[in-house]
Amino acid sequence: MPSSFTQSSIGRSSENSVFSSVSSFAFEAPSADRIQALRLQLATALQTSLDIDQILTLLHRHLKAYLPISGIHYVNGDAMIDTYIGRSAKHRCQYQLNMQKQAFGDISFVRSKRFSEQEMAFIESIMDLVIFPLRNALKYREAMATAMIDPLTGLNNRGAMAITLEREMERARRNEDQDLSIILIDVDHFKSINDRYGHLAGDDILRQVARVIHTSVRRCDVCFRYGGEEFLICLTNSTLELARSVAERVRLAIPDQVKLADRERPVTASFGVAHYEGEADWPALVNRADQALFSAKDQGRNCVVTSLVTEQDALSL
Ligand code: GH3
Ligand code: MG
Ligand code: MG
Repeated sequence: MPSSFTQSSIGRSSENSVFSSVSSFAFEAPSADRIQALRLQLATALQTSLDIDQILTLLHRHLKAYLPISGIHYVNGDAMIDTYIGRSAKHRCQYQLNMQKQAFGDISFVRSKRFSEQEMAFIESIMDLVIFPLRNALKYREAMATAMIDPLTGLNNRGAMAITLEREMERARRNEDQDLSIILIDVDHFKSINDRYGHLAGDDILRQVARVIHTSVRRCDVCFRYGGEEFLICLTNSTLELARSVAERVRLAIPDQVKLADRERPVTASFGVAHYEGEADWPALVNRADQALFSAKDQGRNCVVTSLVTEQDALSL
């Protein structure tokens, strides 16, 4: 597969220019056998990871044994990656990583002394081994991001929800004074919307509801499609009261902003709110929000119910 690396911008001033530089210390070019050995080590090591930072750390570690470098800087604008391994320094030699006309970002090797032509030639002799692992890691990142998104609404999906809730509950557990609340939302009589207006119109309503939820919360709150016509909001640093007021805001916004084609009847939803009280796992917390939601349905729908934990409940958590 054709691959290439184009040396691009070079240092901040001509003084730093790698092309005009002359090494201030002697670099003894490794023998062909040593280069072959390094290539083998690198090829084996770099393919053990799909994590970009880990790949760069391995590259840094292996390369340092042959060439003094302080750090490696990798930037990929499309993937929004700008990462530094090791220490920053004044001199750099930078390469654009390209394969089959596709760009995989820019990689720079940095240190406080200039790079000689010989050193750059040495770096270039192993660069082809870097492109494949980086390309695979980028593809993996992309696939993971796609796998966490619900394709209909664009919100995070249930898999992402489990990961986020576990992480936030762990954080709240570590910092005991940190509040965590969740809101479970279920669109009312959604089956009859599908039955009357068709499944595609139902899908459109789900997209509209998702948009209202997403635009009604703070940036730090994370919204998920829990399944079917159910959504969940994870509110970090939120007391039960704050979460309740957010739920109330979303409840009012839904009939105001979500519209059926004939606008004949309002779209509403019911809400169950729960505050984290030290539950062992995320299903236990979601279960309490679900019970509150069930109670909201029971009370006639289009309302918010909060889950209150009695002292007796707290003892059994
Ligand atoms: P309630 O007020 O008690 O919540 O009643 P409901 O009709 O909303 O609840 P029910 O659980 O009876 O029906 C939910 C419906 O949501 C049934 C299912 O076909 C529909 N549904 C689930 N996922 C999708 C989807 O992706 N698109 C559409 N259009 N409908 C979906
Ligand atoms: Mg439901
Ligand atoms: Mg429903």
